[in-house]
Amino acid sequence: ETQAAFETALAEQGVEAHIHTVGCMGHCYAEPVVVIDHPDSGFPPILYPKITPDKAKMLVKLFLEEGDLCFEHIMGATVETERIPSVTELARFNREKRVIMNRCGRIDPEQIHEYIADGGYRALLEALCQPPEALIDLIEAAGLRGRGGAGFPTARKWRFARAASGADKRIICNADEGDPGAYMDRTLLESNPHQVIEGMLIAAIAMGATRGLFYVRAEYPLAVRILTQAVEQARQNGVLGKNILGSGIDFDIDLFQGAGVFVCGEETALIRSVEGYRGTPRHRPPFPVQRGLDGRPTVINNVKTLATVAPIVENGADWFRSIGTTDSPGTAVFSVVGNVTQPGLVEVPMGVTLRELIFDICGGIPKKKKFKAVQIGGPSGGCLPADFLDTPVDFDALTRAGAMMGSGGMVVMDEDTCMVDVSRYFLEFTQKESCGKCTFCRIGTRHLLDMLRRLTRGEGREGDIEQLETLSRAIKTGSLCSLGKTAPNPVLTSLTYFCDEYEAHINEGR
Ligand code: SF4
Repeated sequence: ETQAAFETALAEQGVEAHIHTVGCMGHCYAEPVVVIDHPDSGFPPILYPKITPDKAKMLVKLFLEEGDLCFEHIMGATVETERIPSVTELARFNREKRVIMNRCGRIDPEQIHEYIADGGYRALLEALCQPPEALIDLIEAAGLRGRGGAGFPTARKWRFARAASGADKRIICNADEGDPGAYMDRTLLESNPHQVIEGMLIAAIAMGATRGLFYVRAEYPLAVRILTQAVEQARQNGVLGKNILGSGIDFDIDLFQGAGVFVCGEETALIRSVEGYRGTPRHRPPFPVQRGLDGRPTVINNVKTLATVAPIVENGADWFRSIGTTDSPGTAVFSVVGNVTQPGLVEVPMGVTLRELIFDICGGIPKKKKFKAVQIGGPSGGCLPADFLDTPVDFDALTRAGAMMGSGGMVVMDEDTCMVDVSRYFLEFTQKESCGKCTFCRIGTRHLLDMLRRLTRGEGREGDIEQLETLSRAIKTGSLCSLGKTAPNPVLTSLTYFCDEYEAHINEGR
């Protein structure tokens, strides 16, 4: 509607202007965002937040009246009561370090030539001129760790798969993002799909794969549509298919739509789901890099991991290591949601503290309320209280604090939040998503949830806290996959840091 309003207003005024549709840039608090650039003004482009069709008409009028003569005046202009900030005024732009989201909101994801014109697929050309082992060495020297949650070294996975016997190898991009509040992978696929495809191509060359597959949630219809189109455009431009870019290498990509089952994000469950079986994890070994999809050596990388590959190939390992921390080089993308003034996607160097992320970049807690806790890593992660605000966000520091990086979901909570309610909410999610294969996860999470429900109804009993702890530890020990092993984390961390709230539920019947 906003775009149509601009088109109509420009046509009515007889103004020639180019309206350029782009993907989401991650500033959710400001949507719909419009950037207006006046090439001859000498001023930077101005970003306009929350533009409605009415405001679109006013903006066109403002530009016609003031644009050529006094662009500076417009930068300070207001639309209704809202002052319009310029791009450089937004803390996000100055504090973020965008490596994988750099093109989100800048290029049209539906046009491969925009990606190419912006330097896209240059890393692929470089990769094609190198021996595959050199690519693995480069990723190893850069210290890239998987962005899907566990932080496993990416180069090690590729090397295992390369060394595995069998010529017909596979690479899968895991886009089965299912954590409540997380949407980093979706945005990347919707806004910059070719960077992920390029990363997959480079990974395929490095490990010797001949076929790739995107496992995308069916609940992401826009991502599925844009990705399907991007793969087709890549084929038409010789980037995918037979003899890619005249290199003699054949590689193509399929798409598989997952049915929205959280546990299918686990590698072995994902593979079974693609093979047509019920998506349940299996014991390892063999690991997927030894025997994966249809029995072939298979690497599974997360969307963000693959999106990081091309920038490393282009800029080198030292450049990548110059960002972030020694053990967690590079950047991290978080979806920061909940009680925060400016929710949205944020890409920051690893090592930035939670305080900087929540207060400096995302504007802190709205309505002058106090910060209470942040849930990091989705339902598998943990709730950290205010004492941990100076914790750096990197794989190891968050694990030491009792949370985990996970795939990058971050839910901020203010002083009004009941932490027992939060635990119950996450447990409801994991209990529903348990595949039921192992007893501790299937039955244990059910008992845990029943106790939490009883507590939040004000029917807590003496001994509940001890039972919650004992049962949580038993579920962690006795479950097969990471869903069960991490499901009690929100309970355990909230018991550690907010035990008084559990006690209040029991003693005061709250
Ligand atoms: Fe299934 Fe839970 Fe066992 Fe994982 S831990 S295999 S989700 S029952």
